[in-house]
Amino acid sequence: METSLPVAERPRRPEWMKVRAPSKDGSYFDVQKLIHGLSLHTICEEARCPNMSECWGRGTATFQILGDTCTRACRYCYVHSGKPSEPVDPLEPLRLAHAAAQMQLKHVVVTSVDRDDVPDKGAGHYAATIRAIKSKLPHASIEVLTPDFLGVEEEALRTVIGARPEVFNHNIETVRRLHRQMRGGKADYDKALWLLQRAKELADYNVLTKSGIIVGLGETNDEVVETLRDLRAHDVDVVTIGQYLQPSPKHAEIDRWVHPDEFRWFREQGEALGFGSVFSGPLVRSSYRADEQRHAAETGRGAVAY
Ligand code: SF4
Repeated sequence: METSLPVAERPRRPEWMKVRAPSKDGSYFDVQKLIHGLSLHTICEEARCPNMSECWGRGTATFQILGDTCTRACRYCYVHSGKPSEPVDPLEPLRLAHAAAQMQLKHVVVTSVDRDDVPDKGAGHYAATIRAIKSKLPHASIEVLTPDFLGVEEEALRTVIGARPEVFNHNIETVRRLHRQMRGGKADYDKALWLLQRAKELADYNVLTKSGIIVGLGETNDEVVETLRDLRAHDVDVVTIGQYLQPSPKHAEIDRWVHPDEFRWFREQGEALGFGSVFSGPLVRSSYRADEQRHAAETGRGAVAY
């Protein structure tokens, strides 16, 4: 049975989604050499992020810990999925901290694959990574974008928050109606909201909480606003909204190209709901200019749109 649109009928990439190719100027190739030389992974490469030219050219990247194989298979995500062949590498936090120091990062963003095969779901490795970065770069802030720690949520949160990251991020990804369809049977929209609120409750310091939504998966604009409302009701401070890009023909098809005016409207809705910062734009990703997102939320500069 035919399950995808014929090529001629697929929506073509609009002008506003065009991105620059990497330039040999700037830091792009220095970042690439450092990261590959230390056998580290980045979500920038693994997810084929369209912003690599800009972010790596600025000397930043988002590290992906716990290996390169994810035990989930979300319908929108390009990260390799399957059964990880390697155990968790205990030296990865030290190599990552070394790379962050070499890059002179002031805000270090760390995410990971899901590791449902590991008893603590990778929480201890997150904590070790945060501690390694803090010891090498005591003045840098740290942002973690974590999985849902399915089945061990409370203990995992205690472990991660115990290492005191400045920003705790967990992406809700899509609206309630599409959540399970896009993320698989184990995913739980309400659990994701709970995780964000619980992280803040457990912190005995001023942690910022953050989440992200991708649009173009079949949601309506009203459903996006409903999700913004749910996030605010769970005390989330920072939100990102960006356009879904289909990474391969096996992944969910793009339902629509969201116009920049609609992204502006999302930003206004988020602003009215009281988020500290809203980054909403076609090429916005969770970690896009994460240092600026944090700064906007902390200084009360308000919502920002791109
Ligand atoms: S937006 Fe995030 S994932 Fe994409 S290149 Fe920039 S740092 Fe990497």
